[in-house]
Amino acid sequence: MKKLLVLGAGTAGTMAVNKLRPRLRRDEWQITVVDQDDAHHYQPGYLFVPFGAYRPEELVKPRRRFVPDGVELVLGEIDRVLPDETKILLADGRELPYDYLVIATGTSPRPDQTPGMDGAEWRRSIFDFFTLDGATALRDKLATWEGGRLAVHVVEMPIKCPVAPLEFAFLADAFFTDRGMRDRVEIVYVTPLEGAFTKPVASRHLGGMLEERKIALEPDFMVERVDNETRTLVSMDEREVPFDLLVTIPLNMGADYVARSGLGDELNYVPVDKHTLLSKAYDNIFAVGDASNIPTSKAGSVAHFQMDLFPDNFVEHVHGRPMTKAFDGHANCFIESGHGKGLLIDFNYDTEPLPGKYPLPGIGPFSLLRESELNHWGKLMFRWMYWNVMLPGKELPLPALMSMAGKETGDTVGASR
Ligand SMILES: Cc1cc2nc3c(=O)[nH]c(=O)nc-3n(C[C@H](O)[C@H](O)[C@H](O)COP(=O)(O)OP(=O)(O)OC[C@H]3O[C@@H](n4cnc5c(N)ncnc54)[C@H](O)[C@@H]3O)c2cc1C
Repeated sequence: MKKLLVLGAGTAGTMAVNKLRPRLRRDEWQITVVDQDDAHHYQPGYLFVPFGAYRPEELVKPRRRFVPDGVELVLGEIDRVLPDETKILLADGRELPYDYLVIATGTSPRPDQTPGMDGAEWRRSIFDFFTLDGATALRDKLATWEGGRLAVHVVEMPIKCPVAPLEFAFLADAFFTDRGMRDRVEIVYVTPLEGAFTKPVASRHLGGMLEERKIALEPDFMVERVDNETRTLVSMDEREVPFDLLVTIPLNMGADYVARSGLGDELNYVPVDKHTLLSKAYDNIFAVGDASNIPTSKAGSVAHFQMDLFPDNFVEHVHGRPMTKAFDGHANCFIESGHGKGLLIDFNYDTEPLPGKYPLPGIGPFSLLRESELNHWGKLMFRWMYWNVMLPGKELPLPALMSMAGKETGDTVGASR
């Protein structure tokens, strides 16, 4: 029997085993997936928890439920991969051998990487919402907060769902407005980027939305430390942003075992070929989802589009044939903008987010880079799709590769407004 070992039963790992099991003969292939616990979190839901829109318990289901028949789920913390011995070690001493390894252990917020971030003020005036604990603690804080200066802050890119901090700022504006206390809250958006977002067209558009909402922008801010006594963010070039409440996106990093195994870059992401997801160092290791270093967003949608192509490549590769599918970095993300509206962006390695309609040119129904109520409903519907369609590896009627159909390029921007 050949052994396929998948590390991580999150978004990408779960989809991978669901898509690969039917493609690999059961009398030839044993498939095992490893995760540290049996609680699968719907992470996009974390955004809504601080504002009381989702309850934490609505976002968690047992992983086991999504692991198909014929795949073994092993619970345990991965300690390291020994690629030359083709086996992994778990922290409790167990060893699991493999012929092929798929790394899908994602990325995590690391407040410990910024001096002062997880100090005395952590979860008192400094919060994150990239963990369910953090989002829940922030909900409790916001319920009684009387106002002051709110800094929404990103330490460094890449982060998973790079639009999430902007969404948080938009939703905070709406939340304080609805509570009749917006005039008592000053909101500042502090980012290491030179504008609101990474790509020029989207950055201009989203920057304009911050301005409309009277959210100040503090760009090019490379944080050096958080001063707990004065409650101040201090940058490398000694600028200071004081806050009463800091909502930060800590540095995001791949799992530490990736570094211990000699498989990662400086942020513990696995270097892979950006089209095939095959490790640059080992011919029997792939990295999928947030765990790799590919230059696109770290997002569930990316994992989903990858899983439309990766299984075919995997099967070709293990049979010694050239891989025929090339992933293009396709990502799309709904952006909540508050008061029941949202935007959508759709892009890939080569094409930045552009205005237009998606998925059907001229029809949509979703609008790209423009606010609409339907986009908001799309975002909410995504949770159902996640549990019922994406994770079980069912097909969605959306093309895996990005399409220019429906997008307004330089010549057409504005034509359909
Ligand atoms: C606030 C927020 C909002 C988001 N919004 C969106 C959105 O609107 N749209 C979108 O597409 N994406 C969104 N995302 C991103 C999306 O959730 C992730 O990109 C996606 O879950 C990545 O899947 P993954 O399988 O690579 O990693 P994960 O789903 O994080 O899975 C990694 C798994 O590896 C396991 N693991 C890690 N280390 C170890 C170890 N040492 N031993 C054992 N197991 C280990 C973990 O327990 C976990 O189950 C959002 C994320 C956040 C935090």
